Amino acid sequence: MGDEGSRRDTRRLRIWLLTAAMAAVGALAIAFAGTFDPIPGRPLDAPWWAIAVGFAVAELLVIHLHVRSDAHSISLSEIPFAFGLALGSPLALVVGRLVGSGAILVVHRRQQPTKLAFNVALMALETGTGILVFRSVLGSFSPVEPLGWVALFLGLSATLTMGVGAVTVALALNDRTRGIWEVARSMGAGVFIGTVTSLMAIVAVTVVWSEPWGAVPVTVIGGLAAIAVRVYRSLSERYEDLEAVYAFGHAIENAASPDDRIGSALHHVRDLMRADVAELAVGETACRVVVGEPGVALLDDPGAVPHPGRVPRGLLRVRAEDLRHFGRPVDQAVVVPVPTTDGEDGCLVVAAPLTTSRGYDADDVRLLEILARQLGQTLEHERLVARLRDELASREHRATHDALTGLPNRQWFVDAVQDLLAADERFAVALVDLDRFREVNDTLGHQHGDQLIAEVADRIGAALLDGEVVARFGSDEFGLVLRPEDGVVGALDRARSVREALSAPFESEGFTFEVLASIGIALAPEDGSEPQTLVRRADVAMHEAKRVGSGYEVYDSQRDRYSTRRLVVAGELRTAIVEGLVEVHYQPKLAVSDLRVVGVEALARWTHDRLGPVRPDEFVAVAEQTGLIAPLTELVLRTALEDLAKLHADGHDFGMAVNVAARSLSDPGLPTLVAAIVEDTGVDPRLLTLEVTETMVMNESPRTSAVLSALDEIGVRLSIDDFGTGYSSLAYLTRLPVDEVKIDRAFVGNMAVEHRHGKIVRSTTDMAHALDLEVVAEGVENRATLELLRAARADVAQGYYFARPMPRDALVEWLADGGATGLG
Ligand code: C2E
Ligand code: CA
Ligand code: CA
Repeated sequence: MGDEGSRRDTRRLRIWLLTAAMAAVGALAIAFAGTFDPIPGRPLDAPWWAIAVGFAVAELLVIHLHVRSDAHSISLSEIPFAFGLALGSPLALVVGRLVGSGAILVVHRRQQPTKLAFNVALMALETGTGILVFRSVLGSFSPVEPLGWVALFLGLSATLTMGVGAVTVALALNDRTRGIWEVARSMGAGVFIGTVTSLMAIVAVTVVWSEPWGAVPVTVIGGLAAIAVRVYRSLSERYEDLEAVYAFGHAIENAASPDDRIGSALHHVRDLMRADVAELAVGETACRVVVGEPGVALLDDPGAVPHPGRVPRGLLRVRAEDLRHFGRPVDQAVVVPVPTTDGEDGCLVVAAPLTTSRGYDADDVRLLEILARQLGQTLEHERLVARLRDELASREHRATHDALTGLPNRQWFVDAVQDLLAADERFAVALVDLDRFREVNDTLGHQHGDQLIAEVADRIGAALLDGEVVARFGSDEFGLVLRPEDGVVGALDRARSVREALSAPFESEGFTFEVLASIGIALAPEDGSEPQTLVRRADVAMHEAKRVGSGYEVYDSQRDRYSTRRLVVAGELRTAIVEGLVEVHYQPKLAVSDLRVVGVEALARWTHDRLGPVRPDEFVAVAEQTGLIAPLTELVLRTALEDLAKLHADGHDFGMAVNVAARSLSDPGLPTLVAAIVEDTGVDPRLLTLEVTETMVMNESPRTSAVLSALDEIGVRLSIDDFGTGYSSLAYLTRLPVDEVKIDRAFVGNMAVEHRHGKIVRSTTDMAHALDLEVVAEGVENRATLELLRAARADVAQGYYFARPMPRDALVEWLADGGATGLG
């Protein structure tokens, strides 16, 4: 620190020495210049105060053009200078210049003493040399004949050269080599601009010399030119801002880790704002990047960081006490809030010295605000992802036990079975699956479902004998180790007593319901010497028990070959598709604001004559594995769009959403198929939304991206289904042609009770809106959830609260009855 301080003192001393030298040379030049008489034959005599006014106006009209890292100023001071040279006495020009420009530096720019002294000395030097060069070349010629023009031009060029030279030397003395590089780079543009303004000045002098009233058209033309440049400037700046913001977003996206992301964002902010320091403070933490230092520093004392609550936002002059905070010589700062939706707002600060930079203005505040908004989204996203990761981690932490029932999980169970097998024990593995659990869950909600599962776990536990264990495998599936006295008969006996324990009605908050269980049994060691085999065979037996309605079955190797459910499904799905036995039901999607129907989702339905209704996730998975997905997708798409066309004919004007399986998304034939069906049915492609799951697009391959963009070209909308389950980034998804996100029902259904889920829905909605995506919430089961979605400003809702999926005729009737508008 002390080292840094003394270096700064040396620098300051050097600048003062340079200033003194310039002042001395300038005074000498002025003394010489004062010996020249006014030019004979002038049509009028410009007094010092008029020249001063000219310089003040020119100084105020300075136009800054900055192209990313190059700054150019167009100053019109060549014009008063040329008038002063031609029409004023040398003394009037010197006084006019110092008073006019000086006043602006003091009053308007409020320059500090060091800088002011430097600039005044520079003005003296420029003016003195300008006059000397001009008068030596001019000799006894008139300024308005060709040789006079040359003299004027050289005089003006001399002042420009002095200016550039002095600034370069000052930067070198200040150890700011970066600045010199910039001056050198902008030299070309400087020469160009200087030449143009000098020539304009010469023309203006010539006109006024021959006819003083010529000043009027000359001023008008100058004014119009200035306006044109300003318009150009604001347009090009807007474009540059856009470009900068784009590059900024890109850099954040491409950073390897969250920490890198914040760091690279700050480095970008610092460069874009041409600042020395950029700082981000959120809550109690703050980090900073400083020019010339790689990496990001964490601030030791975040309490000292300016905070939106403590410091006014916008442009600030840096005061002595703030200097301590920044730890470096800066003159001004811009502070803007970083908005996030979860309340923990932060602030973004940049600070810079006034040496080379022209000073911040309202445009810079605006740019920083845009950057802060982007940064806010990034932060929020990081936090959301971190939250989800925490959740995953804690789930892994609870790896061996299930939180709801406190029972061990499948892995634990497999290990236990392994131990028994290794010990050559005889035992049975049983799998218990509730028959109508999904129905309970769907009708009464997850809360009742959860209570039911906990109660089932208790009852099974109570029915077990010494040495028997129970584990929870999945939502409504339990694995048991039973210790029957003797083989098959004993095992069936144990299964019956477990089933009986579950047969008494369940009660939950005033509801009474019966849930039956199906139990499948495999005997060890007869039916397998591996835990996995035993579990799989118990599963086969369990499905058999369901199929025949017996309630419990022991595995039978004879039957296994034909009767696994999967085989049945796979075998008959083909026929069902060909014969059109797969139906399509529709579930309405409603505008959250007024519950007007904005679309329906097509959901495939298949009722098998022996198995009963087969759930679509089950047969879709089978279709994907057996090459039946293309005909299934075609069937659903065609049926859905034909039905939509009929609905349109009946005066309904909503859209249709169709689910697309992962397999289809890598099928190059899909876009052709969609285009053909859209064409055949005459439906506007924009009314068709294809729902693809988040995980599908995350595993994006060149093939799926080709399919996605081909679909986009057809004009159909794309929706990201089950959003929130896949840990992907919304920002990443928007690189794909996506129009909508559908927040997974696991988050939505629980919003009203799970505070955390509500937060996730809200922040996802805000982020999606910022990215111009429509937000659909699925799985809305009650009014409370609808109200929360309203508050979260989600766009569209779908769920059992409004309507279940139904056949087309039922949908038509439902629409005729007024739909969901009565539900509030
Ligand atoms: P999904 O795309 O997430 O479809 C929404 C599922 O949520 C449907 O189940 C629907 O009946 C159910 N649902 C709607 N409202 C609520 C509610 O308020 N609460 C609860 N708990 N559930 C609600 P479904 O019809 O059983 O479909 C399951 C999945 O099968 C679908 O999930 C979709 O991924 C897939 N699927 C359905 N039809 C098709 C199809 O034609 N093609 C493809 N590829 N997949 C399909
Ligand atoms: Ca869907
Ligand atoms: Ca979904």
